[in-house]
Amino acid sequence: MEDGGWKMTGAILHLPSSILDLPFSLLVEFWCRMSFSLAQLQRVIAETYDAKDRRRGVEGTFMWFMEEVGELSAALRGGSERQRAEEFADVLAWLATLANIAGVDLESAVQAKYGEGCPGCRQIPCSCDHAEKP
Ligand SMILES: [Mg+2]
Ligand SMILES: [Zn+2]
Repeated sequence: MEDGGWKMTGAILHLPSSILDLPFSLLVEFWCRMSFSLAQLQRVIAETYDAKDRRRGVEGTFMWFMEEVGELSAALRGGSERQRAEEFADVLAWLATLANIAGVDLESAVQAKYGEGCPGCRQIPCSCDHAEKP
């Protein structure tokens, strides 16, 4: 996504100074359209559901996560474009929940494992043997 000079670093938003002259409503609109980091996702999910998630625990949450994976499978086979988008969102939200209660920082984990290319061959795109990783 083209950020037009906007830059998110963790929770801190760096704005070019001229943008501060924009009307508030326009700033809100820009804000809503900005990219949503994995760290932000985990924070929003925690703020929304943390008490319930911790009460349910990792095992119960994993079952809900798998149920959503099943719904994604059904949506991919026969759902509308909107249903597919919703199920991707559900799976990602439940994965973020699981990461929260398991104490995993998704952004760091993904960056560490995939940030420099394929974990197997360290290439972008992956050059692993087809027989090994189709
Ligand atoms: Mg669902
Ligand atoms: Zn590879």
